[in-house]
Order: sequence, then structure tokens, then C-alpha cells
Amino acid sequence: MVSVLNNHNSQEAHHPNEAYRTALDQFRRAAAYVRLPEDVKEYLRYPRREFTVNFPIRRDTGEIEVFTGYRVHHNTALGPTKGGIRYASNVTLDEVRALAMWMTWKCALVNIPYGGAKGAVVVDPRQLSLSELERITRRFASELIPIISPHSDIPAPDMGTNSQVMAWFMDTYSMTLGYSVPGIVTGKPILLGGSEGRTEATGRGVIISMIEAMKYLGWDNRHDAKIVIQGFGNVGSHAAQYAHELGFRVVGVSDVSGGIYKENGLNIPAIIKHVQKNGSLARYTDGQNLSNEELLVLPCDVLIPAALEGQITEHNAEQIKAELVVEGANGPTTPEGDAILRERGITLIPDILANAGGVIVSYFEWVQDLQAFSWDKEEVFRQLQRMMVKAFDYTTTISEKHQVDMRTGAQIAAITRVGDAIVQRGFFP
Ligand code: NAD
Repeated sequence: MVSVLNNHNSQEAHHPNEAYRTALDQFRRAAAYVRLPEDVKEYLRYPRREFTVNFPIRRDTGEIEVFTGYRVHHNTALGPTKGGIRYASNVTLDEVRALAMWMTWKCALVNIPYGGAKGAVVVDPRQLSLSELERITRRFASELIPIISPHSDIPAPDMGTNSQVMAWFMDTYSMTLGYSVPGIVTGKPILLGGSEGRTEATGRGVIISMIEAMKYLGWDNRHDAKIVIQGFGNVGSHAAQYAHELGFRVVGVSDVSGGIYKENGLNIPAIIKHVQKNGSLARYTDGQNLSNEELLVLPCDVLIPAALEGQITEHNAEQIKAELVVEGANGPTTPEGDAILRERGITLIPDILANAGGVIVSYFEWVQDLQAFSWDKEEVFRQLQRMMVKAFDYTTTISEKHQVDMRTGAQIAAITRVGDAIVQRGFFP
């Protein structure tokens, strides 16, 4: 048996990783404005439950390898926990803690009845065959059964996972119980109880918040705005597609293989086709090639980081040319990067608002599954638009009231809702 516990990050016990440090710093800033007992604030700094599993999987070679997975429930005051499952080779428990905490704030901000969770398996899915991916998913789903259900914790896709992974997850849970339970996960294929519009929802929501921000800032010639998007996966590609459909000029996009820039606007449908065919942006030629570092500081009006954490930092925030940053990814800006953008007067629409479209439509999917009744796409998008705009307006109201930036305003709004729920529920026993 090849025994490689492939997760271990021994530094983690000593200091939090970048994402968790960012999440705690943001919480500290916002919590200072929230009127709640100090002990409730202290409680909110910690995840309620953390579950780590190590499980053996037979590789296609016949060897057995041990994989590590996590599921963290940050808070359950407003309802069952909700959050994606990430497959990545460098993911740590601390990163999952940060992502679970952000899910709590995101669900509270957009006012859906969920607490926050996140899960991960330490694995690079690109190094797995399809059958290895299926075995890992099924075994991980089975390991999570003690802590998930449609009424307690509902996973979804995140980086490195997709609707096929969710289909295996739902099937494993259903086979164990002996009947189909579509409400156990969201982001499923539509045939299995997935929702119309879920795949596009996060990217679409990012563009809805970008437009609301442009209106809020009083931008007159909005359609002249130049947009740059980092990351061309689920969030980035659908944001690019929707922006393109609405007539915006997307001048730069990138993925892990690098970026492409064209001052007059890229041909987004052609890029989507290229990525579908080739698996990445590499070798796309209609534009100027550049690195991800160069992409982030391109001349543009709107920058949408939609790939991964920690991209806007003290090293590049000074050089960013955009006047508006809309966070498609979770945690793409470090506290130092954030401070520089604030000082420079750059408006930032925070992740917990800008990328909430995904969890909003996941909520619609869960509601449809529980009622065994499906909505059409127009209805999904109409309700998505309504809830995104409402959350945007609520964030600006709270930010103006406290005279703070939008991130702090969004977090104040969310922490207040969760804290009030904890106080109203009281303390068991
Ligand atoms: P994905 O796996 O579909 O796509 C990730 C993209 O980022 C890919 O294009 C990949 O090539 C690119 N990328 C990876 N490493 C990179 C690097 N070093 N530099 C530049 N690009 C890189 O993932 P996704 O679902 O689009 O998620 C992206 C982000 O959005 C994550 O932070 C995720 O947590 C967040 N998010 C996703 C959803 C959702 O519904 N999918 C919802 C909310 C937030």
C-alpha cells in the first residue's frame, strides 16, 4: 500500500494560511462596527464543526493511495450549512475554514436561510482518470454521510469539481439511503434535479453587481468600459460571456496557462470555443499574450479577479489601473492589497456580494428539489437579478450608514444578521 497522506501542511498549526488570515482580518475590521456581545463575536471567529477524513482509493495502476478530505461547518444559526467542495492539490484545512466563514457571511448578506460550510479533497483532479475521479468522489461522499443531509449540510461544486462530480455525490448518498435524494447537493445536472441557470449563475451575478456598481458610481458611458477578467473557469467564462452579450468590451482574460489582451475587445465566443476544444487558453492567438501578473495591471476600467485567492496584494495593488474591482473569486484580495485599493479610492465590490449568484441559484435548486417542482430559466434569472440588486442596495445602505468601504459594509450587514440570530436563538443548554 502506498501510504502518502498527501495533505500535510505542518505550518498550519502555527499560523493561519493567507486565506484564513484574510478572513479573520476582514471579520475583525467589520465586527468593530457591530453591536453584539463580545462573546458572540468571539464565537463567530471559529468554525462550529471540522471534519477530516483520510480514505484509501485504488488507482488505475492497482495501487492504493490515501487521500485527505475536509468539511467545515462555520455557523448554523440561520439554517443548514451550504458551501462548495474544492479539489486542489494545495488546499489546506485553514483555507477551508476561511471559505466556510465567507459562506456564512455570503448567505446572510443575500438573506437566504443557510449557514456557511466548505469542503475539499487534497488532490489535483487533472492528474486523475475519470474513473479515479469518480472513486474519490464516491468515497468522499460516503465519508461525509454522518455530517451531511438536505436538512443539515448541502454541498455544491467549487474549483476542480463540476456537475458530474455532484451527480456521483448525489448517487452515492441516494444509494446509501435506498432512495433518490436530489436535495443533498446543488449544481447537479438538470436531469437529476439541477436548476436551470445554475451553471451561469455566479458569472452572471458578478456582471449584475458590476452594473449596479457602475450605476452607483454614476458612470455615464458604461458600455465604453474596458473589462479585464482573471480566470476563465465557471465564474470567469460566464462573466465574460454575459458581459459580451450585454455589449461590454472584455479586453483581457486569463487562466492558469496565461492571459490574452486586445485593446478593442476580445472575441469572447471564439475564446469559449477554443477553451472547450483545447482545455485552456494556451495557443489562442487573436490578441497579445501576457502573464497573469501583467493582466492584473492592464489599463482597464473594471478588473474581475475570478480565479483564486490572494491575487491583489501589497506587491501589485499600487499598479492596478481599474477604477472598479469586482471580486468573482473568493478572497482574491489580501488585507494589505485591500488597504492600498481603499487609499487609492478604487471601489471594490466584495466577494460575498459579487459572487453570491452561485449560492442564490443553489438555494433555488434546493427549494425546487424539496418541492419536486422546477422553475424555468427566465424565472431563475428574474429572481437572481432581484436578490442580487437587493443585496447590493443593502450593502451600499449599510456602508453609507457607517461611512465604510463596501467590503466592510457587506460584512457588517452579514455579521449583524448572524449575530442577531444567535442571540435570538439563545445558548443551548
Ligand atoms: P474553475 O475551476 O471552474 O476555474 C478556475 C479558473 O482559474 C480556471 O480558468 C483556471 O485555469 C484559473 N486559474 C487557476 N489557477 C490560476 C492562476 N494561478 N492564475 C490564473 N488563473 C488561474 O473554478 P470556478 O468555479 O470558476 O471558481 C473560481 C473562483 O470563484 C474560486 O475562488 C471559487 O471559490 C469562486 N466561486 C465559485 C463559484 C461557482 O459557482 N463556481 C461561486 C462562488 C465563488
